[in-house]
Amino acid sequence: MKNTIIKGLTDLVEQKRDNLIRQMVVQLEAQGYKAVLEQATVQQFCRQFALSPVEFALRCLPVAACYALTPISQFNVGAIAIGQSGSFYFGANQEFVAASMQQTVHAEQSAISHAWLAGEKAIAHMVVNYTPCGHCRQFMNELNSAERLKIHLPHSQNNLLHNYLPDAFGPKDLNIQNVFFDGQSHPFNYQGHDPLIRAAVEAASQSYAPYSQAFSGVALQLGELIICGRYAENAAFNPTFLPLQSALNYQRLQGLIDVKVRRVVMAEAKADLTSLPMTQSLAGAHLGLDIEYISL
Ligand SMILES: [Zn+2]
Repeated sequence: MKNTIIKGLTDLVEQKRDNLIRQMVVQLEAQGYKAVLEQATVQQFCRQFALSPVEFALRCLPVAACYALTPISQFNVGAIAIGQSGSFYFGANQEFVAASMQQTVHAEQSAISHAWLAGEKAIAHMVVNYTPCGHCRQFMNELNSAERLKIHLPHSQNNLLHNYLPDAFGPKDLNIQNVFFDGQSHPFNYQGHDPLIRAAVEAASQSYAPYSQAFSGVALQLGELIICGRYAENAAFNPTFLPLQSALNYQRLQGLIDVKVRRVVMAEAKADLTSLPMTQSLAGAHLGLDIEYISL
């Protein structure tokens, strides 16, 4: 049986009858529906269709939107973060039944978290099929590339993020120099032999929590595979991205939605705040699992 992403992509090919979209879906199928296009693949498509990378990304947006999970809104948003490497990282909005509204993921957050976990060092362009909401403008202002980040929409291209967010408040206002996407290393030790716990501790070590120091990471066990997610804070606090969302998003964009999650480990540094209650709530509602919690 086809999963919802594959069904969405198949329907899109039938509706659009567009050669580029058909070939994109063939490419995704060949890579197990992993929603990333390496720089060499991007160049190949750009040459074949005589498009710039941004023009190509705009054409890919309906494909990215097929990765959305929208049981509440049925409103699918697709985004593509173009890394400084030239690779494309797809993202899409996600909503979780029986969890709170605050647990939802926006498409721009999805694409950015995807790129971060894939090891990209900076985002050069954000391409999205609807104008970014205020929450996402603030989320993107935390990036190490915020000053030069360009936003491209179907109706308007080549605008700086700061055109959408004038007189912005960001990490520099709070004297944070090492910002989101700069290398993070807060080494936490784990002496045991459980690879899932090790992965969660490692994810916490690379998380971004300059405001609360509540570094955290989540690791999901999917069969033999481990998928991690990292916590990422924001100067304005509320667009902060939680580690289980980060992991579930990465699972989805790796084309692994059919693989059952068997265990969830969360590792978190002791601090004045905690993401544990919200993470427990989402793990229960979405995965039907209790969290194994490691306090660092
Ligand atoms: Zn948004």
